[in-house]
Amino acid sequence: MASKKDYYEVLGVNRDASGDDIKKAYRKLAMKYHPDRNPDNPKAEEQFKEAKEAYEILSDDQKRGAYDQYGHAGVDPSMGAGPGGAAYGNFSDAFGDIFGDIFGGGRGGQRSNVYRGADLRYNMEISLEDAASGTETKIRIPVMSECETCHGSGAKPGTSPVTCTTCGGHGQVRMQQGFFSVQQTCPKCHGTGKMIKDPCNTCQGGGRVKEHKTLSVKIPAGVDEGDRIRLSGEGEAGVNGGPPGDLYVVVHLKKHDIFEREGANLHCEMPISFSTAALGGEIQIPTLEGHARMKIPSETQTGAVFRLRGKGIKPLRGNENGDLLCHVVVETPVKLTERQKEILRELEEINESDSAKHSPRAKGWLNKVKGFFD
Ligand SMILES: [Zn+2]
Ligand SMILES: [Zn+2]
Repeated sequence: MASKKDYYEVLGVNRDASGDDIKKAYRKLAMKYHPDRNPDNPKAEEQFKEAKEAYEILSDDQKRGAYDQYGHAGVDPSMGAGPGGAAYGNFSDAFGDIFGDIFGGGRGGQRSNVYRGADLRYNMEISLEDAASGTETKIRIPVMSECETCHGSGAKPGTSPVTCTTCGGHGQVRMQQGFFSVQQTCPKCHGTGKMIKDPCNTCQGGGRVKEHKTLSVKIPAGVDEGDRIRLSGEGEAGVNGGPPGDLYVVVHLKKHDIFEREGANLHCEMPISFSTAALGGEIQIPTLEGHARMKIPSETQTGAVFRLRGKGIKPLRGNENGDLLCHVVVETPVKLTERQKEILRELEEINESDSAKHSPRAKGWLNKVKGFFD
């Protein structure tokens, strides 16, 4: 239902997009979905609002930083409750259309202003090791909760909100626009139907205050980049008694020094010395569970791949471990002493006397090059 999309996805830009790219992407979408160009198209209007919201967050360095760290929970538009509950009103404007039909609206009766809270997103970076074995971690997220001083009314203790004089408590007003009379959210009370004469000092009249709560998140073994863990009911609070949304923790894997993950398999680079590659030998290689020994056959070439079965990751859905694939890179020796150089020159001389035998690949290549120039 009301799952919030990732702002970067909405604009179709990369996470490291520049301010200019973000602006360009937004302009394109705004032109395409602007309500003036798409009359009577609620879907386009929704896309326009989405793009606008994404742009407002991503074009502001501070908000973008908070979003990158906390996801939607860090920058939720309803969380900046201003004087008189302005933010509360904006929230109704932006989301009323989505939820109005579900909770009591759309039946021809008066809109009840009861909304389910939006689903929020929290981006979590974890290490490859934690993703493989699973872990439990705590996250701290900002939330809006009921102000204790005024118990959510927004009015100073001892006073209470009064009926809005502009709309007579309906929350909606009729405005003349050319030949038409259109119904709009009351600009004075932002649709709440109530006015606060003496705002509460703690929440400045918003009725809600920003707090932090700590949640425990169980990361199951095998999660991969982009997997989502749902924390039911931990999203944004509902409005006027509506149910809360859900919080989605989205997993991102930190770059690992040694391994690269591809589904259940792991890949790593395995540099071996020139002589080990030629003569064969045994080397130690790292795995997620510690070291393992691996036999290198003689005459191993760069690019050879050795597979260690079962040393990969057991995926979230599936019960067999993946493999570890080691990609051989033969390292050319560096900082050679005179003695080492001497030995290599001698080796080279012997090799050259029968290069077709000792370096078949180089020989074959040379022959092809000759054919190419003839
Ligand atoms: Zn208050
Ligand atoms: Zn009003």
